[in-house]
Amino acid sequence: MTIPLDDSFHEECAVFGVFGHADAGALTVLGLHALQHRGQEAAGIVTYDGMQFIAERHPGLVGDIFGKNSAHAQKLKGMQAVGHTRYSTTGGSVARNIQPMFADLAGGGIALAHNGNLTNARALRADLVRQGAIFQSTSDTETIIHLMARSLYNPVVDRLVDALKQVEGAYSLVALTARKLIGARDPFGVRPLVLGELDGAPILASETCALDIIGAEFVRDVLPGEVVVATKDGIESYHPFAAQPKRFCIFEYVYFARPDSTVEGRNVYEARKRIGEELAREAPVSADMVIPVPDSGVPAALGYAAESGISFELGIIRNHYVGRTFIEPSERIRHLGVRLKHNPNGSILKGKRVVLVDDSIVRGTTSKKIVEMVRDAGAAEVHFRIASPPTTNSCFYGVDTPNREELLAHSMTVEDMRLHIEADSLAFVSIDGLYRATGEAKRNGNRPQFCDACFSGDYPIELTDLLGGRKNGQLSLLAEVA
Ligand code: SF4
Repeated sequence: MTIPLDDSFHEECAVFGVFGHADAGALTVLGLHALQHRGQEAAGIVTYDGMQFIAERHPGLVGDIFGKNSAHAQKLKGMQAVGHTRYSTTGGSVARNIQPMFADLAGGGIALAHNGNLTNARALRADLVRQGAIFQSTSDTETIIHLMARSLYNPVVDRLVDALKQVEGAYSLVALTARKLIGARDPFGVRPLVLGELDGAPILASETCALDIIGAEFVRDVLPGEVVVATKDGIESYHPFAAQPKRFCIFEYVYFARPDSTVEGRNVYEARKRIGEELAREAPVSADMVIPVPDSGVPAALGYAAESGISFELGIIRNHYVGRTFIEPSERIRHLGVRLKHNPNGSILKGKRVVLVDDSIVRGTTSKKIVEMVRDAGAAEVHFRIASPPTTNSCFYGVDTPNREELLAHSMTVEDMRLHIEADSLAFVSIDGLYRATGEAKRNGNRPQFCDACFSGDYPIELTDLLGGRKNGQLSLLAEVA
């Protein structure tokens, strides 16, 4: 039995790629290490050494797989590499789903790594299976490879574009062939992808923190709907898809992206602080201290404290050495689960009126335990402030979320949620407050500047598989074959 130690949304994946650098494999290890927060279940790297592709894909953390003296890392020879970290949602957690995926196509081999989720993968897969395709994995990413294999176009970039024109959903992907590194972003630009440069070698990464760790320079964001192709002759850019309104995932600013990253022109830490400032203006409260739920609540709590003038204190300490789940030794101590990760600093909480700041409430299980924990530690009042609007809808664009029915805000009013988590008061930042924190004046009614579907239910990209009667984006190989 395992104890779920957090109740947050989980980013599904990160991607990274290098072209034309003598340390391509080692740089990719470092890049993925910086992107570990986007997926902790498995990691993989594929290099090309001038003769052959070398693939190392394993379950576990990047450091455990490719760390010091790792035999896996030592195999990664070659001047070009692509890598991936995974948090499984679509396709489940089986070894055959670990990316980058590799296939020998007419014209040569290709390794493909994908961050996002295809919303018509089931429908496409059913067609492909009817036509005789034999899938090796349950991942939606393999659908792209099968579409490429069947494409009548050449060369490989045209095959990839042909395949991507048939898929719906969110993707930021990197692909490696013997002579090219390719990056592509869906036309709505839901997931991030940045272009950098190190010693003249182009780098592709999900976030800028992966450029920083290797000393690479940020060049620019890959644009929504753009395909960039790096070869020994330089970088070419294509815009082969019909233009769509940009709908970058606003939750990247709330929680997913690392605070030291700059995505879509905004520094994530600064955006989170501004969300806290908005929250303090929208939902003030008389209190003695502002306390973050660490780590994700820290920047917003700093913003709340600065705007309100209430002192910021580290009243909850996080243990950084626990994973997402922990083997439970005994049913009798199950209630201690939350303490494995968070512990209140009792001596500063006693008798104090506390404002707790967290990034979001998903099922509410952790929030309820943290309120109880802080109260048990002696706090006189516990006011909960949330740095995002109520999460009322699931994500189908590459983020692991519970079914809508499991989301606390789907079935409860704010007051019901307050009673449920037993806080003295509860408030969420408004959707316009969230937009203001990103530098927008407010949400543009019918043409919002971001994807905010988990708050609004306004899904920018067709949910074809869902509308076809399937409950979520999970793929089942057996179900399709049957
Ligand atoms: Fe991001 Fe939410 Fe849109 Fe998913 S539904 S892409 S988490 S804003």
